[in-house]
Amino acid sequence: MQEFDPHVLDEKPIPPPEEFSKKAHVKSLEEYRELYAEAKADPEAYWAEQGKLIEWAEAPKKTLEWNPPHAKWFVGGKLNVSYNCLDRHLEKNGNKPALMWEAEDGSTLQLTYAELFERVCKFANVLQGLGVKAGDCVAIYMPMIPEIAVALLASARIGAVHSVVFGGFSATALADRIADCKAKILVTADGSFRRGKMLALKDTADAALEKCPTVQKSIVVQRTKQEVKWKEGRDLWWHELEEMAEKECIALPFDAEHPLYILYTSGTTGKPKGVLHTSAGYLVQCTWSTRLVFDMKDDDVYWCTADIGWVTGHSYVIYGPLSNGASIVMYEGAPDFPRKDRFWEIIDRYKVSIFYSSATAIRAFMAWGMEWITPHDISSLRLLGTVGEPINPAAWKWYFEAIGKNRCPIVDTWWQTETGSIMISVLPGATPAKPGSATLPLPGIAARVVNMKGESVAPGETGYLIIERPWPSMLRTIYGDDERYAKEYWTRIPGVYFAGDAAQCDKDGYIWVLGRVDDVIKVAGHRLSSMEIESVLVSHPAVAEAAVVARPDEIKGEAIVCFVALRTGFEPSKELRDTLMDHVANMIGSIARPADVRFTPLLPKTRSGKIMRRLLRELATKGAVSGDTTTLEDMAVIERLVKAQTDDEE
Ligand code: ATP
Ligand code: MG
Repeated sequence: MQEFDPHVLDEKPIPPPEEFSKKAHVKSLEEYRELYAEAKADPEAYWAEQGKLIEWAEAPKKTLEWNPPHAKWFVGGKLNVSYNCLDRHLEKNGNKPALMWEAEDGSTLQLTYAELFERVCKFANVLQGLGVKAGDCVAIYMPMIPEIAVALLASARIGAVHSVVFGGFSATALADRIADCKAKILVTADGSFRRGKMLALKDTADAALEKCPTVQKSIVVQRTKQEVKWKEGRDLWWHELEEMAEKECIALPFDAEHPLYILYTSGTTGKPKGVLHTSAGYLVQCTWSTRLVFDMKDDDVYWCTADIGWVTGHSYVIYGPLSNGASIVMYEGAPDFPRKDRFWEIIDRYKVSIFYSSATAIRAFMAWGMEWITPHDISSLRLLGTVGEPINPAAWKWYFEAIGKNRCPIVDTWWQTETGSIMISVLPGATPAKPGSATLPLPGIAARVVNMKGESVAPGETGYLIIERPWPSMLRTIYGDDERYAKEYWTRIPGVYFAGDAAQCDKDGYIWVLGRVDDVIKVAGHRLSSMEIESVLVSHPAVAEAAVVARPDEIKGEAIVCFVALRTGFEPSKELRDTLMDHVANMIGSIARPADVRFTPLLPKTRSGKIMRRLLRELATKGAVSGDTTTLEDMAVIERLVKAQTDDEE
């Protein structure tokens, strides 16, 4: 029996729509191949050229200084990141909308580039007035409101290092992250809105601050106007400070390697890591990839639905699009509030042309059904994107047909908090798509699939995804822990970047990311990836979502356990359980027949929406969960699963 090949699932690659290619920045596969070859022949020259996409106060003297595993990019260059996202657009695009924000309750706010610029300058002055200096850390714990964009850009403007903590995190998670970066200032809000409810953000922030002696001031945006406790001397209202602030704030140049931010990974594989990104390399690659992958044009209306609490929000809500002078949409609330058609309504209202969302969201839309989509005019869309997890071919096809109406290319973008920007993706006017594959590495990115010795594996064989050479937006270290940085990423396979993902490469050189290395299952000597089996499960009409893990098995080494959430209209039953087991065995082979299928209304996810298989693995193996659960969205999901299990045993 051969290892399962996900790419045999799909027949023919889907060529980019002709109309799209004609106007795209990269128009054909040949053109992509030329760019790739050019970059490969002289990577430093290639990146030096891309460096011209941003404006420098002083030009760099050297493109790369590589002392493995430490890289410095654009050495000697000086720039201001916020200048690149704001000031440089003012002359031509001062009146162009930069940010089109919609509140959960439907109210809206639009900021032109000139207006956003003014607000950023004022808030930068506020921070400076409170004693924040270049290199100081500013913690940001906020809902998706325009002020969060202002806070990031204002920090960048004065060379402060921001550390955004997703607004759904607990006080402990926030306190840990503030302690790690020793923030001087916290920027937060009185509260936030979620599905019509008011959440007491400041209470949580205050609880965290009890344990954070480094924080001298807490700046509070008045969002909900709920009653809040106030600590005189520490707490300050944002609007009062902004009102008093000066409008002018010169963007001073900082060193190319000046730190820009710290951000923690989502925690699907273990304790989150504080990833450090610096200025020039990060901005260059975000700017460049936004242009290439999203085919960004002047008149696009761009909406990336990620929360700014995640790297996607940093790179593709803020830095990449604003550096390109784009008009961005930002939405405060939940996709199913007040109804499950909120996103399609927003696309219609703002005439969104580029829509970038997560694989997990796409699976949810698919489960909710067409009735929410059909009533809305979403014909403004011209390009769709996905990120976060491998997208199963069934969801890809649904996205392509139901949302893209067979005419919008889908960019399946593989990257990580650590990589800072997109690394492997369809170029929408050039790359024929294969549903479920992130396809080909971008020019300048030396991605390969190898064995533990670093040798390329044959097409269709499972291996490890690595990056051979440094790239501009790579993480510089794990904050405060150079040793862990070297160990996690650069020594597993000596000399190359170890992404931690299992992958296959097919005969056309397409890369199929299968999921985490830890999620690969070994049954009777055969390696199967959780994603392959999940993908088959989701292709069954009863299944909305599935997570597959291994538990030790005396005979086979490992046995397959599936956790399955059903679509509306389907009920758990013994028959359905057997049907799903047969379905997997039929589609992949009897080797993959699950030992168990467990139904659950919801799967445990990180707050960024990724399935936490490590918790399910623990549950399937030990019947309980003891690992780090600080990034888990909803503990009740795990509690219910534990309970269901004990009930079964009784
Ligand atoms: P942690 O590293 O703490 O476990 P995390 O890896 O989930 O958290 P992120 O950096 O947000 O945190 O996620 C990066 C990972 O997401 C990748 O390593 C990969 O496993 C997955 N991923 C992202 N985009 C894609 C994609 N297009 N296709 C397949 N997998 C993807
Ligand atoms: Mg990771």
